[in-house]
Amino acid sequence: MRVLLLGTGAADGWPQPFCRCASCAYARSEGIVRARSGVLVDDCVLIDPSPDVTVAAAHAGVALDTARTILIGHSHFDHLDPSIFLAREWVTKQCALGPLVVHGPSSALAQIRPWINPARLSSGDIALHEVVIGADITLPSGHSARALPAEHGLGANGWPTSGQHSGESAHSDMPEAVLWEVTSADGQRLLHATDTGPLPASTRGLMRPLDVLLVEETFGDTLDHGTAHLDLDTLPHLLADLRADGIVHDLTEVVAIHLSHHNPPEPELTRRLTAWGTRPGRDGEVINVSVATESVEPRTQRVLITGGARSGKSREAERMVASHAKVTYVATAAPRGDDAEWDDRVAVHQGRRPSTWTTIETADLVSVLAAASAHDAVLIDCLTLWASRIIDESETWDTPSQARVVVRERARELASALAHARGTIVLVTNEVGSGIMPVNAAARLFADVLGDVNAIISRECDEVFLAVAGRVIPMHSALSAHVPDRQESLS
Ligand SMILES: [Zn+2]
Ligand SMILES: [Zn+2]
Ligand SMILES: [Zn+2]
Repeated sequence: MRVLLLGTGAADGWPQPFCRCASCAYARSEGIVRARSGVLVDDCVLIDPSPDVTVAAAHAGVALDTARTILIGHSHFDHLDPSIFLAREWVTKQCALGPLVVHGPSSALAQIRPWINPARLSSGDIALHEVVIGADITLPSGHSARALPAEHGLGANGWPTSGQHSGESAHSDMPEAVLWEVTSADGQRLLHATDTGPLPASTRGLMRPLDVLLVEETFGDTLDHGTAHLDLDTLPHLLADLRADGIVHDLTEVVAIHLSHHNPPEPELTRRLTAWGTRPGRDGEVINVSVATESVEPRTQRVLITGGARSGKSREAERMVASHAKVTYVATAAPRGDDAEWDDRVAVHQGRRPSTWTTIETADLVSVLAAASAHDAVLIDCLTLWASRIIDESETWDTPSQARVVVRERARELASALAHARGTIVLVTNEVGSGIMPVNAAARLFADVLGDVNAIISRECDEVFLAVAGRVIPMHSALSAHVPDRQESLS
């Protein structure tokens, strides 16, 4: 299957024509243009004829005359420009045009009907079909297509309430916004999942394992949009559900589309999406799907996030694991029965975590890592409390040199466990050594100990991030590969 992305932008494109925000300015300066969405599958199935599809096809060097099927998701203007049916009429060599089949919700078909030569409709040269949810349709090209209900505000779950639309459908139960699944003759399967909010279980129940998922991520960090779209908060949880259902698996290529300037500039967006096994699609990009070979085990990812108090480090760590079907959250703090303020902090963290995550309270991180499998994510929050607990348990607060020996030994054991771990491991720690040297001996000891721990663990991590003011800075360290002694160089 060959999937050409004709447009990967939301309704106003990206850069937004009237906007000079950082996200638009970056896109403009780099020449990264995202037109309204449209996809061409194997040159013969066009999904969503957007207002930009003619120019996008020209840029991609393709002609759309080979498209024998047009699949329309819904009638919003950014997905349906009926004038392309007129453009098709104006072809000079009419005889070269084959018959065309169009599938879409009734409100979309009502929009395009006035733009089609009536003679073509009566001759059957162009056939319009209202979608039937869940039905498998065989297309002229040998592909099959299936419509799934979108959650897009055109009636609850995409189902209209009576009288809401001027569509000609006699069936009030016809969906008005759908997602198109397309399967090639040799079994490769794509889902075009825009526009939609989080998918209801009824939609997930109709889904099958995918080779390509094109999924919308319209609103980025704008979470109060109040629309039926996905954003950087809801997308990872949808992916976690689809992974739990086996619809998205190790070989599924997941690409974000319908992107808007509510997203951070592309490098930061790419960083955020990469943690979820996806990436931003680019206009003109071709995704070639080959027949699935045997499954490859996901690469182990070890990530350390450090930062000051309230820097956003825990939230970032939670985001990084959010698209995993199975997440183990490891709380390293020993219970503090008599500290109400502490209990409140813990409650805030707990309230943010999805109910599907498993929480373990332990300082035995080596055993937790040994038990993790390749598809698991383990979030350890945090090494600061873990180190403090080790000093408590070894009763070495008054013997700093002994405390450092004990904690370093445990940190090396943890580093070794990390080296052998599988899955995605995200560790949170604190940056406590900055600022003025504390006058308090215990505080000085703790800064020393945590400096040791962070350096030892950092060496074993693939990525290290510094969280500051709610943002994270990647601390790229190709250098770590050149440190000859991974565990012994600190003293
Ligand atoms: Zn849209
Ligand atoms: Zn903007
Ligand atoms: Zn829409």
